[in-house]
Amino acid sequence: MIGPMTTARAAARWLARLEDLTRPEPRELARGLAERWASLPAGVRTTQQSIGRRTAGCEATQGVFPRCNMACTPCYLGPEANRVRTDGAHTRGEVERQMAQLRDRRGPWQNVQLIGGEVTLLGPEEHAAALERMVAAQRKPMSMTHGDIDDDYLTRLALRPDGTRRFKRLMFAAHFDSLMRGRRGAERPADEAALHRHRAQFVARFARLRRDHGVSSYLAHNMTVTPANLEQIPDLLRSCARQGWRMFSFQPAAFQGNPRRWKEPYRELSADVVWSRIEAGVGARLPYRSVQVGDPRCNRSSQGAFVGDRWIPLLDDRDPRDLRARDAVFLTLGGLNWEVRPALAAARCVRALARRPAMIPVAAGWAARMVRRAGGPGALARGGFRPVTFVLHRFMDAEDVRPAWALLERGQLSDQPRLRETQERLLGCSYHMAHPDTGRLVPACAQHAVYDGPAHRRLAGLMPARADASADG
Ligand code: SF4
Repeated sequence: MIGPMTTARAAARWLARLEDLTRPEPRELARGLAERWASLPAGVRTTQQSIGRRTAGCEATQGVFPRCNMACTPCYLGPEANRVRTDGAHTRGEVERQMAQLRDRRGPWQNVQLIGGEVTLLGPEEHAAALERMVAAQRKPMSMTHGDIDDDYLTRLALRPDGTRRFKRLMFAAHFDSLMRGRRGAERPADEAALHRHRAQFVARFARLRRDHGVSSYLAHNMTVTPANLEQIPDLLRSCARQGWRMFSFQPAAFQGNPRRWKEPYRELSADVVWSRIEAGVGARLPYRSVQVGDPRCNRSSQGAFVGDRWIPLLDDRDPRDLRARDAVFLTLGGLNWEVRPALAAARCVRALARRPAMIPVAAGWAARMVRRAGGPGALARGGFRPVTFVLHRFMDAEDVRPAWALLERGQLSDQPRLRETQERLLGCSYHMAHPDTGRLVPACAQHAVYDGPAHRRLAGLMPARADASADG
C-alpha cells in the first residue's frame, strides 16, 4: 500500500532529480572547471581566459587507431604508426578507458576528438561504437578524418543496420590541404584550388545525410599551413567559407612526427602573418582578444557569423560593452551545456538568469549591437545568419618540446627563453590526451613528441599491420 510518506519521498526524489537536471552547471563540471582554472599558470588566468570558466579544454584520443592511408607532408604521426593494424576491439577498449579518465577528471560534456590515424579505416560499425562510448562517457565527440569518404560509409555510420537513426548529429573535422598525398581524384594536388571541389563534395555529403535521414552535422575544416600554401589562404576562404563549414582551423606546420615527411625547410610562420591571410580571405577584421583558449602563443580564435557575404564578430574586442557581456556570460552561463533538448536548455538558462538577473539587460544590449553590426533586421532577414569560427593553432616543434617536457617532469623550469616559453605553453595547454595507465593528462605537443613513438612501437608488436596495408613510412 502506498502511504503519504512514500509519496512524499518519491516527490522529493523527483524534485531532486529535476534540480540536478536543470542545474546550469553540473556539480562535477563546476569541480572540473575550478581544478582547471587552478592548474593554469598565473599568466594565462586572464579575464578573457575561457578554460576553467566556459570549458575544461579540448580532449583527444591517442593510440586508438594510429594508421593512416594518406601521406601528408608533414605528418605528425611517427613512422611506426602505419605498422599498427586498425582494430575495432582495441579502439573500443582504449576509447572506453581514456573517456572514463577524462570524465572523472574533467566532468561531463567536454569536446573530444576521435583522432589518431584515419578514423574511417575503422568500419562504420566500429566507428559508431567508438562514438557511442564517448557519448556514454558524457563527451561531445568529433571524428577527425582526411575527408576522402563516401555517402555509403556516412549513412552506415549514422544509421543502424535496420535503418533507424543512430545519431541525431555528427561532428567531423576534415583535414584538407595541398600538402596531402593520396586523395581519390586529387592524388597530388598542385594547389589549394585543386581541392575546392573536394571540400564542397564533403560538405554536400552531410547535407544529403540531413535531407535523407534527418542527421545534422557540425563540420570543421583543418588545414596545415606552410610557406607553400600560406598565400593561398585568402582564395581558399573566398571560395569555401560559405560552403557550410562551421569552423576553419589553420595549423602552421611544426616539426613533429615523421622526419621523412618533412619535405621543405619550413620557416616559422608567425601568428600575425597567418592571421592576416585569414582576415584577407574573410574580408573582415577577426577580433581574437575577447576570448582566449589556453595560451595566446598557441591559440587564437574568433567567433562570428556570415550575414549575406559579410562576416560579423560575436564579440568586438575593442568595444568595452562587448567585453562586459563576455564577463557576464562567463559568470552567469559558465559551463552551461546548450546542446540538449531546447526545453532543457531553456530551463537551465532561466535558472541561471534568475540567479543573476543583471545578465538580462547586458544580453539585450549585446543582441541589439549584433543586429546593428549585421546591418539591421532587414539585412538579417535577407542574408541569414550562418555561424563560422576561425581558429589558429600553433603546435610546437618536437626538438623544443622534448627537453622542455623532460625538465617539467623533473619539476624544473628552464632559464633558456625558448625552452621556458615552450614550458609555459605546455603548462597552459588547452588540448590534452588521457593516459589511463598513469592517470595523467598530457598536452598533444608532448604526446606527439614524446609518447607516440614508444606507444606505436608497442602496438605494432601487439597488432602488426599486414605488409600490404601500409602507406609509406
Ligand atoms: S597542444 Fe601544444 S600548441 Fe596546442 S595548446 Fe597544447 S601546448 Fe599549445
